[in-house]
Amino acid sequence: LTLASSQRGMRVFDCRPESKQVTEQVVEATGKKLEGFLQDVSKAFSISGKETFVLTTTDRRVIDDNVFDELEDGITLQLLRSADQELPAATQEHIKYVPHYYTLVQSGMYEYYASEGQKSLPYAFAELVDNSLSATASKEGLRTIEIRLLFDESQGKHAAVVLDNGCGMTSKQLNNWAVYRLSKFNRDNSTIHSDHSGYVRPAPVPRSLNSDISFFGVGGKQAVFYIGQSARIITKPAASPDVHEFVMSKEDFERKEKNKEDIYCGVIRNRKPGDCAHIVVEEELFLQALIAEEEDKESFTAVVITGIQSEHITYLKQHFDLWTRELAHIYHYYVHGIHGNDMRQSAKNVQKESNVDIQISLVEKSGKQSRRVNLRNVDNDMQTLYINSTSASFEFRAQAHGEATVEGLIRYHPFLYDRETYPQDPYASPGPADEEDDECEVFNPVGRGKRPIFECFWNGRLIPYTTVAEFEWCACPKKAGSVPAECYNRISGVLFTNDCFPVSTNKLTFMDLELQLRDRETIFTRVINGQDQRVKIQREFTTWMKECHEQYDKQIKFMGFQ
Ligand code: ATP
Ligand code: MG
Repeated sequence: LTLASSQRGMRVFDCRPESKQVTEQVVEATGKKLEGFLQDVSKAFSISGKETFVLTTTDRRVIDDNVFDELEDGITLQLLRSADQELPAATQEHIKYVPHYYTLVQSGMYEYYASEGQKSLPYAFAELVDNSLSATASKEGLRTIEIRLLFDESQGKHAAVVLDNGCGMTSKQLNNWAVYRLSKFNRDNSTIHSDHSGYVRPAPVPRSLNSDISFFGVGGKQAVFYIGQSARIITKPAASPDVHEFVMSKEDFERKEKNKEDIYCGVIRNRKPGDCAHIVVEEELFLQALIAEEEDKESFTAVVITGIQSEHITYLKQHFDLWTRELAHIYHYYVHGIHGNDMRQSAKNVQKESNVDIQISLVEKSGKQSRRVNLRNVDNDMQTLYINSTSASFEFRAQAHGEATVEGLIRYHPFLYDRETYPQDPYASPGPADEEDDECEVFNPVGRGKRPIFECFWNGRLIPYTTVAEFEWCACPKKAGSVPAECYNRISGVLFTNDCFPVSTNKLTFMDLELQLRDRETIFTRVINGQDQRVKIQREFTTWMKECHEQYDKQIKFMGFQ
């Protein structure tokens, strides 16, 4: 099909100097040669046979046979006396500015890459886990979320699957999934048959563990295109007998662009559970297995990513412990409940109140043992380390503008005998080696050192690149006081904010958390057993620090030693 023979209508503006008003007419060009088209233009604007005129594009290219053949449907042309005459009045050119498909395909790359290279892969997976947490929010029983890395070539392409037993999506919701920036706040709720009731903000819960972490309408798309080049979403909502399946891929976008088809269009396949008639067997054996699992499920969503970049595959295999630990850190309080992963004897009887189960598995070539970890069993993420080396904690609340609230916690990690117990990150690159003093070696001599006190969680989920150094009331005072200065290096802290504190779309940083909390209007209150205390927080904190020092720090002093 050539352009010349395809459906074409041109918008022609009469811009001849003597025209009192610029008039516009659509002149059909389908199947016509230039000569015939010019005759039609003459007719349309009643131009006499003696009169000469030219037709140009809006960048003043004169329409000759060659240019004419290139003209696309709907283009704006100007009818002039001569190619360089002035416009007697303004014309209106209709244009389209559909975003390029790179908006989707490259969104992830710049979002995550710009934020710190290598380590960003766990944060891309976190976006998909966020979606699964949101989708399973109102699930009664176990909320299962699985990341399966299928790197066994005998089963087809390398694939990463994120699977949950959440509410699934109707075909309308699946359509919405694909729309970049269409968030729960701006979905069309106007029709009676709408799939979404208007968004209702969840009621406040302790530590804001509300699972309401779908926010911008970008996370899932960014994540899949950061990890790979193709995403297949397979989903079934509980009320429906049908499974809905949709593929969005770079390859498909390229094909549509080449064929000049609409870019943001696609096909949802509606089928019965377990039906894998559409699967190309050799390439996607693993998909057959996945689809076979559908039959026993009430509702689910699976996101299948293929075309995974090879350096990602290497990283995921080689640093399995590292990145799964990072996920355990991000979702620490979702996986372990509000008190976190306290493994000490004293906490053994406290009921674990979380029903969130996040599993990660990695299958390599047959014969090689597959790896599997449940985030609940990760015992070396930073929050686990902080919690298990705490001897006392100080709770507080910060009330910023309106409903913006933060629950906060400071933990004391005492000095014990020959070491600071403030936990070290086992994966952190070691600092410069200290001058060793053989006679009296103190392990981890600086405790927290210059590091910030607080890690920050938003709606219960870690925002990994934002930390808050300190607040005025918990900073080491300039003048020596009743508490030795080194004690201030023995504290760690956590802030749990609600959704009133905005985060960036990649959920890696808060926009202005520290600024908001430093505002004069922000009120800090100590909390004991859930009750706000009407006392000056600074004095309370200093007293608490003094008690911690006196009760928990234990130092050995050798005397009379020869
Ligand atoms: P954010 O940018 O904060 O991630 P978002 O979660 O709305 O916002 P996406 O992650 O792209 O954006 O997801 C788009 C929508 O698709 C979600 O709002 C949700 O309605 C739906 N969705 C995504 N994943 C799932 C899932 N696992 N189960 C059910 N619905 C899902
Ligand atoms: Mg999301």
